[in-house]
Amino acid sequence: MAPCAIRAAALSMHAREFSQAVLEWFDQFGRKDLPWQRDVDPYRIWVSEIMLQQTQVATVIPYFERFIASFPDVVQLANASQDAVLHHWSGLGYYARARNLHKAAAVIRDSHAGQFPEDIDQVESLPGIGRSTAGAILSLALGQSHPILDGNVKRVLARCFEVEGWPGKSAVARELWQLSETYTPEKRVAAYNQAMMDLGATVCRRGQPDCAVCPLNRQCMANASGHQRAFPSPRPKKTLPVKQAQMLVVQNGEGAVLLERRPPVGIWGGLWSFPECPASREPADWCREHFAIKAGVLREMPLRRHTFTHFHLDITPLRMYANNPSNAVLDAGDRIWYKTPDSSGLGLAAPVSRIINELEKYSTVGTDDRPAGGGISPKRIPIGGASMSRTVNCIKLNREAEGLDRAPYPGDLGQRIFDSVSKEAWAEWLKFQTMLINENRLSPIDPKARKFLEDQMENFFFGEGAEMPPEFTPPGS
Ligand code: SF4
Repeated sequence: MAPCAIRAAALSMHAREFSQAVLEWFDQFGRKDLPWQRDVDPYRIWVSEIMLQQTQVATVIPYFERFIASFPDVVQLANASQDAVLHHWSGLGYYARARNLHKAAAVIRDSHAGQFPEDIDQVESLPGIGRSTAGAILSLALGQSHPILDGNVKRVLARCFEVEGWPGKSAVARELWQLSETYTPEKRVAAYNQAMMDLGATVCRRGQPDCAVCPLNRQCMANASGHQRAFPSPRPKKTLPVKQAQMLVVQNGEGAVLLERRPPVGIWGGLWSFPECPASREPADWCREHFAIKAGVLREMPLRRHTFTHFHLDITPLRMYANNPSNAVLDAGDRIWYKTPDSSGLGLAAPVSRIINELEKYSTVGTDDRPAGGGISPKRIPIGGASMSRTVNCIKLNREAEGLDRAPYPGDLGQRIFDSVSKEAWAEWLKFQTMLINENRLSPIDPKARKFLEDQMENFFFGEGAEMPPEFTPPGS
């Protein structure tokens, strides 16, 4: 035999031994009675695979059973409202998975006559389904021979063959896919793929691989070298850029602190925060120009770092005392004098809350530290004439609820939100917006990201609900 033929034969024999060991282990120890392993069909396997992304089996089981009881087949899922689908997903997280599931069900109903496709390319083209999930569905449900590469399988293969590098890098992922293709057998693929996922979840665990009971311990290179924990390589740490912000913590004679509402899109969009004074400006001058307040800096509070997905923000809070009467500067709608505790549900940026809580300890430091004995006293001052208890017929909650104090966004969209969206629904949007920013790694200074968020906001309140961008794929698929 030529040398390359000998190598191929050796590899084939190794692959046979490898899959044989995995299958024997599965026959003895594999999980065979999970709810989606009964009455197996592609729809049930699909729902379970999507739920299992980033989520453990024990958590998924009750969700799966409720979901299947309400949406027993793909057409009933497609015909359900998105609200109903999301309701069944509530608590599982990564809601883009549920929205994609719902969208894909509609595609199957409309383009595949309600039958789950059996061709791998067609399955992969459905929203929210990547190569590994498509392979898992078709192998587990129909016995087709397709390799898979979810997080558990990546870990087993990376250790068995000491594959270096972070699997998120395309060259490393390519190598792992090649290994998965090589070692996936033609027969008993459903059992083999299930076994590989089970092995990763229960034996070759991230922190504590139990090599003594692993069926692959004789073949495994990491076990032989004792370097199990070095594989797979972790995601490389990014060095995030550091930005600076000088925040003015201005207190008046009643101990209230001046807050501004941030623009609806961008970091802390729509939340209340301290005014930010450019580092190039003298804070007292800037205060006078912007708020007509005569204020002097009392002290610089300790610097603190807040980390976003894309950067660190180093905040220098400057504590100032305003000499004007307490109701000064309230002509603008997006400014308030704020006192704690606040019962109106104003959303504060997290570092702002912490700084406000810290103010108490500055209240008795020296005679210059006015307001004397002040700190933040326990009530909230009404805002510049704005009503704090307005009722609207909230289109999101579908009932009457307390309205916003003022339009939270400029122009016609802001007016529509003011007219028909409650504070409660607005708070929901702010939470959703934060998730959109984090999951899509949106940069708040990118105009396209801001436009995207504005469209999502409009859709959230007046359309069919906000959506992930089409290119978004849930982690793990
Ligand atoms: S021998 Fe150990 S490290 Fe290797 S696959 Fe098995 S459990 Fe993982």
